[in-house]
Amino acid sequence: MAGLFPEPPKKCNDPKCPYHGKVRVHGRMLEGVVVSDRMQKTVVVRIDYLWRDKKYKRFEKRSSKIKAHNPPCLDAREGDIVRIMETRPLAKTVKFVVVQVVRRAGE
Ligand SMILES: [Zn+2]
Repeated sequence: MAGLFPEPPKKCNDPKCPYHGKVRVHGRMLEGVVVSDRMQKTVVVRIDYLWRDKKYKRFEKRSSKIKAHNPPCLDAREGDIVRIMETRPLAKTVKFVVVQVVRRAGE
């Protein structure tokens, strides 16, 4: 993780934290907006992307929702823009982790 992203503002002791725990990231990096922070240490991130329609040769906006682990040192909240990266499955439906809060909601 070192060097790839800015260090989180604080330290945590979450074993599933990519900075202070044992989780290693790999694969895809995605950016999206947090649409729910109601679960413990897990956020729902909406990823918007353009989909190219083969038949009509035009782009359309699509989005998908991805659950990501939210380490306490980053503490992403609803409305924040975050970067998430793929990791080993951390829970039944969680295989991404928040690695950076790009912009806090309301900033
Ligand atoms: Zn941490």
